[in-house]
Amino acid sequence: MDLAGLLRLVLLPGVTRHHSTYARPIDIEEHGLEYTDDAPLRAWRLFRVRPSGNTVVLSSPMFHDPKHPPWPEARSTATCSEDHEAPAAGCRCGIYAAIEGTLDSLPGYLFDTAYERDPWAYAEIACTGRIFVDMRGVRAQYAEVTRIALPDDVLQDRAAWGTTARRLNERYGVPVNEIGSVPSWVRENHREQGPPSAAIDLSLDLDKLDLWR
Ligand SMILES: [Zn+2]
Repeated sequence: MDLAGLLRLVLLPGVTRHHSTYARPIDIEEHGLEYTDDAPLRAWRLFRVRPSGNTVVLSSPMFHDPKHPPWPEARSTATCSEDHEAPAAGCRCGIYAAIEGTLDSLPGYLFDTAYERDPWAYAEIACTGRIFVDMRGVRAQYAEVTRIALPDDVLQDRAAWGTTARRLNERYGVPVNEIGSVPSWVRENHREQGPPSAAIDLSLDLDKLDLWR
């Protein structure tokens, strides 16, 4: 389900397009939503493909974090340095991802980390457990990689693309496709940086999310 459908279901039962006048943003940041494995919230992330022994591993392209936390298995669980389960209300913990209609720009994060030399990839993740949503995107408790998109121009040639794709497939057990397999809203959300500027109100603004399509 996309964000519009999600919010219509969770926040707006019975509301129709004829009642879509919301003068102020509705802040649901403090409302954790629950998603089960049967019906996860599908979202997208940017990764770098790092060498790891005789294979490769996805890692989060953490801006300003030289450790580049690896994502070694398909499924990952959020943690927080504070003493609570992640994600938590009022904290910034959780597994971050973008869904359609939110502001975080995956091409922007790529631009932010242009000094990187390792290949990049986009991956779809299925988010479950407790999830918080704001205009930046989602913060999830659990996330599992469900498919990977590896651009062919980030590797030196077709053979290198094939080798890397096979290693990713073996490690994560998911399809690895060309970049064209990524939804256009992910690829076309170009900004000069990944996170939205500090001036933007991250509260959900239902009008901006175009909920009434
Ligand atoms: Zn936290």
